[in-house]
Amino acid sequence: MAKKPLLEFTDRGIYCARGKFYIDPWQPVDDAVITHAHADHAYPGNKHYLAHHLSKEVLLYRLGEIQLQTVEYGETVMKNGVVISLYPAGHVIGSAQIRVEYQGEVWVVSGDYKVEDDGISTPFEPVKCHHFISECTFGMPVYTWKPQVQIFEDINNWWRTNLHNGMATVLVGYSLGKAQRILQNLDLFNGKVYTHGVIENTNDALRRNGVLLNPTERITPDSIKEEVRKGIILAPPSSVGTTWMRKFQPYSFGYCSGWMAIRGAKRRRAADRGFVLSDHADWNGLISAIDATGCESVYLTHGYTASFSRYLNEIGFDAHEVHTLYGDDEEASPQPSSEEREQTSEGDEKQKNADQVLSLGEDLGEAGGPVS
Ligand SMILES: [Zn+2]
Ligand SMILES: [Zn+2]
Repeated sequence: MAKKPLLEFTDRGIYCARGKFYIDPWQPVDDAVITHAHADHAYPGNKHYLAHHLSKEVLLYRLGEIQLQTVEYGETVMKNGVVISLYPAGHVIGSAQIRVEYQGEVWVVSGDYKVEDDGISTPFEPVKCHHFISECTFGMPVYTWKPQVQIFEDINNWWRTNLHNGMATVLVGYSLGKAQRILQNLDLFNGKVYTHGVIENTNDALRRNGVLLNPTERITPDSIKEEVRKGIILAPPSSVGTTWMRKFQPYSFGYCSGWMAIRGAKRRRAADRGFVLSDHADWNGLISAIDATGCESVYLTHGYTASFSRYLNEIGFDAHEVHTLYGDDEEASPQPSSEEREQTSEGDEKQKNADQVLSLGEDLGEAGGPVS
């Protein structure tokens, strides 16, 4: 009889039967190892969590009181004889690839990752393994990123032009990852950075975790509109089209997402400017990352899994599509996100957790997203 693989794909998540733990489970389990704090990877309701220490405060903020053990990159933890260690995924601050080893067999679960060094997340590190579990959110050749310095030059120039024209500047990006990456690359000679509460809560959590971020000012009902209009406003996707955003009119509204690489994406989001900035690997990044692992087989969890696995098989990899509930953290739903609703029901942890379970679709792409 063939021996059971070290990791398997179950209806609760990626499971290690030998070690009796799950990686990024979407159903409550006893023992969860978490790649990063995005809602489609870190679900509430698990008895015990293991994650990188830079994910700690964001996890506590998003999931409430949880039993959490944290580790450094490269540190090892044993579970029933199985060796677990975390390596940088370069996706957002604290994101990790999970390396699992038993009797010489090595699996790596990448979670979400990108290969470009964004200057704030610990840069992606290829890890040698026999079996590699990869995302492929942007696994199509049309998704090819420019170096981020070019994107931020465009963003800073656009902000200056808006100031010159008496327009406010509203820039939209996901609250964990994109928002901090933008914040650290803005030209602060232009003016101050103002933040939507959802972004500032995440910034605060990261600061509690010891992460040094540029100064920001939270927008509150007491903020002076004319002052805010002289700076730049960082807002989450859920704020698009809300009265909250409209009160800063007239403004130019920019959207940061990998989806901006395709025609029509900007128009569909009613944005004035689309900036192609993603926290996921692009086409070349995915292939180089998979190749660098030297793996025998690769399992594709989310994104263009069908076409990308076909392509990988053509060029000589042993690639497989697997079914998971991981989504796309680049995108917003047209409905208010869990985070926005969270803001209105602050302090109600139970409601917050329930909202997070119910709204995982928030992170799924719309038209232009994965077709698989
Ligand atoms: Zn993510
Ligand atoms: Zn994800």
